[in-house]
Amino acid sequence: MERTFSILKPDATRRNLTGAINAMIEAAELRIVAQKRVLMTRAQAETFYAVHKERPFFPELVATMTAGPVVVQVLEGNDAVRKYRDVLGATDPAKAAANTVRKKYALSISENSAHGSDSPETAAIEIQQFFSGNEIVG
Ligand code: ATP
Ligand code: MG
Repeated sequence: MERTFSILKPDATRRNLTGAINAMIEAAELRIVAQKRVLMTRAQAETFYAVHKERPFFPELVATMTAGPVVVQVLEGNDAVRKYRDVLGATDPAKAAANTVRKKYALSISENSAHGSDSPETAAIEIQQFFSGNEIVG
């Protein structure tokens, strides 16, 4: 069993896609073991995506992540990190495979509907940023 961290981004919550994306998560045999809807502060978004802070798209990324509510989640399952990235598809929806979240729902490379951790180590750090241990119930 492995855990990964997920964010349903503002473009998804705005279009009422929380349930549709959660259905895809559960169909992939990932279990939602923690979930809450929050408004990310600018500081939270900057910390969360700090690895990208020198990239030209960083200001747009922070603006996009704070534009409306997000749903932060912890997902559990076999090979959860890789499996969830497969559910999401490529960062750029134009390059995402059929039947992935980003192919179906992303508006652009920036408003790409959801985030998934890129490694188990990153997942542990990201989960800690948003959840305390007693909020995660497997
Ligand atoms: P995420 O980390 O959100 O799951 P990812 O791992 O597929 O996505 P990253 O390279 O980590 O992709 O980029 C983080 C986020 O930054 C992307 O999801 C996207 O919203 C945004 N982003 C990445 N590249 C660009 C770009 N060229 N222009 C605008 N936004 C971008
Ligand atoms: Mg990433």
